[in-house]
Amino acid sequence: MKYEHFETKAIHVGHDQSQHNDSLAVPIYQTSTFVFPSAESGERRFAGQEQGYVYSRLSNPTVACLEERMAALEGGDRGLAFASGMAAVSAVLLGLAKTGDHILCSEGVYGCTYGLLHYMEEKLNISHSLLSMETKEEIEQAIVHNTSLIYIESPINPTMKLVDLQMVAHVAKEKGIPVIVDNTFCSPYLQQPLALGCDLVLHSATKYICGHGDVIGGIVVGREDVMKQLAATVQKDIGGVMAPFDAWLLLRGIKTLAIRLDRHCENAEKIAALLKGHPHIESVYFPGDNQFPQYALAQRQMKRGGGMISFTIKGGKEEAQQFMNALSLIKIAVSLGDAETLIQHPATMTHAVVAEEDREKMGIGQNLLRLSLGLEAWQDIWEDLERGFTALQNMPTVTNYESN
Ligand SMILES: *Cc1c(COP(=O)(O)O)cnc(C)c1O
Repeated sequence: MKYEHFETKAIHVGHDQSQHNDSLAVPIYQTSTFVFPSAESGERRFAGQEQGYVYSRLSNPTVACLEERMAALEGGDRGLAFASGMAAVSAVLLGLAKTGDHILCSEGVYGCTYGLLHYMEEKLNISHSLLSMETKEEIEQAIVHNTSLIYIESPINPTMKLVDLQMVAHVAKEKGIPVIVDNTFCSPYLQQPLALGCDLVLHSATKYICGHGDVIGGIVVGREDVMKQLAATVQKDIGGVMAPFDAWLLLRGIKTLAIRLDRHCENAEKIAALLKGHPHIESVYFPGDNQFPQYALAQRQMKRGGGMISFTIKGGKEEAQQFMNALSLIKIAVSLGDAETLIQHPATMTHAVVAEEDREKMGIGQNLLRLSLGLEAWQDIWEDLERGFTALQNMPTVTNYESN
């Protein structure tokens, strides 16, 4: 059965009740191995001549349902699940690049992806460069003879800068270079890179896909030939696979992906509007704001502005920390996409490993805070933020903003 709409696919794809004792929910196949009906059948399954499960590192029915559902939501042929977002990122990069290659990346990438790229450079002689990717010409010039992959995040964490995925895909296609997109910040509900011409999409499923802050997981979706290669190599032989129970929790989370994302976006829109123009606020970074420098691009490639806002307060590190400490409803934590609103300080948390000079270049100052809007009533979120502003109001005025 083919379903047309995202919301319906998110609830139904990949599960046929009649194949599972009429169970409405997808059962958790908590098993390491599968029993072959005969020795010959085992031989055929190993040879790939017979359908059927073999061993849960290779494939598991609960995990397979999640993979099929995510493939449907991203509009790809096949999905592969991994034990974490980083297991997905490393599987793709190690699976598709070889010694001597060069990877062209968007200017900001997730901290551990950045770490992995450096590790690959040192150990495997796979080089990379970071590029703002603002124009076609800039990308064409940055592609060198050994560039074998283009790797993008959009929006870029934490400044929410966007990369024009369609434009990059167009340039890459001319050169025959596959484009990989980390779509974690959007989820397939807000942005579908494959439809924009990109080749592979991956997620930290830990974030919006899960939505409840109780799973670490990763997903990759793409064309059958590429996914088949990844399944037979990095997924099988490096083996960072997802556990059946985690797949089950993610399937449960995905059922409400669309309605959750709408609320995350709505809350972000409300809070961004209130933050803008507040006397303690310097700047607000939110793709859903019609004064956001790339608002037109956001409208083109994203369904809505997303649930993430970054903002700078007037002050420095001390003010930022006082602000966070004054909050009560909003929790101080990294990660994002949960029901709870979370706040973090990129300069000392998610981006602490980035050299200060690079941080400055990326626009990550000591007064920048990142907010992951949860599903609470926006009035309560705002009331909590006002506690932060009150704390700033009460700070001694001797602070020298520049030296912090
Ligand atoms: C969290 C995150 C990752 C890493 O995912 P884990 O599930 O923590 O391994 C990768 N990319 C982005 C954009 C992330 O936010």
